[in-house]
Amino acid sequence: MKQNLNRRDFLKLAGLAPLGLIAPPLVKKLSEYNPLQGERKNALVILFDSFSASDINLYGYERETTPNLSRLAKRAVVYHNHYAGGNYTTPGTASLLTMAHPWSHRAFRFGARVTDEYANKSVFHAFDDYHRVGYTHNPLANTLLMQFQMDMDQYVPMEKLFISDDGLIRELFSKDEDIATVSWTREIKRSEYGYSYSLLLSHLYEKYKDLQLASYKSAYPNGLPNTNGGNYYVLEEGIDWLRDQIAEFPQPFFAYIHYHPPHFPYKPRIEFNDTFTRDSYKPPAKPDDLFTEDNSYDTLANARARYDEFILNVDSEFGRLFDTLESSGMLENTWVALTSDHGEMQERGISGHVTPTLYQPIVRVPLMIFEPGKATGSEVHEPTSAVDLMTTLLYLTGHEIPEWSEGNILPPYADGAPKRSNLVYTVQARRNNVELPLTEATISQVVDNFKLIYYIGYPELEGLGEKIQLFDIQSDPEEMNDLSVAKRETASELLDLLKIKLNEVNRPYQSG
Ligand SMILES: [Zn+2]
Repeated sequence: MKQNLNRRDFLKLAGLAPLGLIAPPLVKKLSEYNPLQGERKNALVILFDSFSASDINLYGYERETTPNLSRLAKRAVVYHNHYAGGNYTTPGTASLLTMAHPWSHRAFRFGARVTDEYANKSVFHAFDDYHRVGYTHNPLANTLLMQFQMDMDQYVPMEKLFISDDGLIRELFSKDEDIATVSWTREIKRSEYGYSYSLLLSHLYEKYKDLQLASYKSAYPNGLPNTNGGNYYVLEEGIDWLRDQIAEFPQPFFAYIHYHPPHFPYKPRIEFNDTFTRDSYKPPAKPDDLFTEDNSYDTLANARARYDEFILNVDSEFGRLFDTLESSGMLENTWVALTSDHGEMQERGISGHVTPTLYQPIVRVPLMIFEPGKATGSEVHEPTSAVDLMTTLLYLTGHEIPEWSEGNILPPYADGAPKRSNLVYTVQARRNNVELPLTEATISQVVDNFKLIYYIGYPELEGLGEKIQLFDIQSDPEEMNDLSVAKRETASELLDLLKIKLNEVNRPYQSG
């Protein structure tokens, strides 16, 4: 491609224009697009972590994992091709909350925060005239919420909904929280790292914790859900807490509630155990990937059955929450969105979501939007992005769309609004230095029915330096057939587009 061609000229030459790959010209900036007037409704975002669209019955999965979502879909806008911003909690959540891609907010390393520049570019900042609430079970997401805390009216500490951790001690010593928490940390918590100051107290605590956990044993015979093997929680209590609190939130409110299930470890309540482990469903066999973790087909199939049972539990609790909100009248003036930060995969020898690959089970997540007081729904099949959700909620509640948002207003609400891009990206760059250009990364780029996956800089590529895959996700949703050779021209056109983008986002980090 010649340097003096601009992008539109290039695309015309490349023959991509008829495919509809070019965004319509930006008549005016989205940030100047007039917000709706007089629509100060509440906005509630419910996120279930690691919730893959690939395992959701409503999205075509064979197992009946989501009877409640299917029931509620009739009154929601259901997005069938919605993509996470990243492949695990840190980049995925940061993209949701900042409305920017990981290459902009830079929270792509494990446990990272967004850059200082983005610390006040969150959705909480943009909802500045609302009562803003944030909660998460997930420590990685909590790191981000703490960073955005200055723009929240009600930051709820993560431990609030843990069964046994520091939150317990806050309850026990509610009149003396500071001292209790400090001494607790000094005396007990550090014992996890090998040094406790008080043997007596730590023994008492262990007993107390065991007793507490034992009371859940009958409902959770396979163990309690937890984060990091220590922070035990049950989703039902998290749902009950929200049900009780939400009536107390000053209105209008914006609330972001990020629950941990169906994240690993998959620990559903007793009534969901063994629903799928012995059914007749056989996940499609797929070849091992370059980044395989060497898990066998049976290991992965079993993990997937457990994961699906945890989804059934999530679906049941979401249904319960929704019904409660409805009977309380809250849905009459509240936008409700259900989504996830990224997906989960059990195939190609890979289990989980921390992998350089960006197959559909990892990047495609649910999105359902419930409009206040509306009983009918619709379906959206065009590809949409995590960066679009908060952008849209701001627009729908009469807020200006911040200039830093990289998202579009989602259909069916866009109503002629200019579109920033037709290209939907997911970025994985877990080992890349945040202060340097992306040189070890995977980027998935979806447009229409095509998905290009671009890998650069991994040692596994063995001197090739880069690799691409191209899938027609409409006719081949399981990504069995890599078209990068058979459709070489399309692949190289899409790769050129991606490289233009990559050069643009890398430029600020290039030295000299
Ligand atoms: Zn996550």
